[in-house]
Amino acid sequence: MRTVDSYDLAQMYQTLREAVAYRGVAVIISNRPCVLDPVKIKGPALAIVNELCNACQSCMNLGCPALTWASDTFEGRHQVKIDQSLCIGCSLCAQVCTVDCIKPAAMATQ
Ligand code: SF4
Ligand code: SF4
Repeated sequence: MRTVDSYDLAQMYQTLREAVAYRGVAVIISNRPCVLDPVKIKGPALAIVNELCNACQSCMNLGCPALTWASDTFEGRHQVKIDQSLCIGCSLCAQVCTVDCIKPAAMATQ
């Protein structure tokens, strides 16, 4: 049995790989609440530093409703922006960003 932080992508992927490889019953307990319970997990909203976003779309693959396409483009692809009113600050998008351009809103301008 393993207990993991479900908002720590690297830890979660590693734990899932180990559980799949384990011969027998594997139990994983998430010690963080569901994303649909924002009152309990809401952190400061994040924002994207526009000048650094290369529109790779890695963050968009998460399916987070707070992430939307911006009107600006980079090499023909739409850059991304964060709807501050929907962002619960889970940090998953920042963990998958290829250029580390997703920051606490106070540090970035959209
Ligand atoms: S931190 Fe990123 S993934 Fe999490 S809610 Fe905000 S925009 Fe979505
Ligand atoms: S992962 Fe980062 S660089 Fe890629 S589209 Fe999202 S904000 Fe832009």
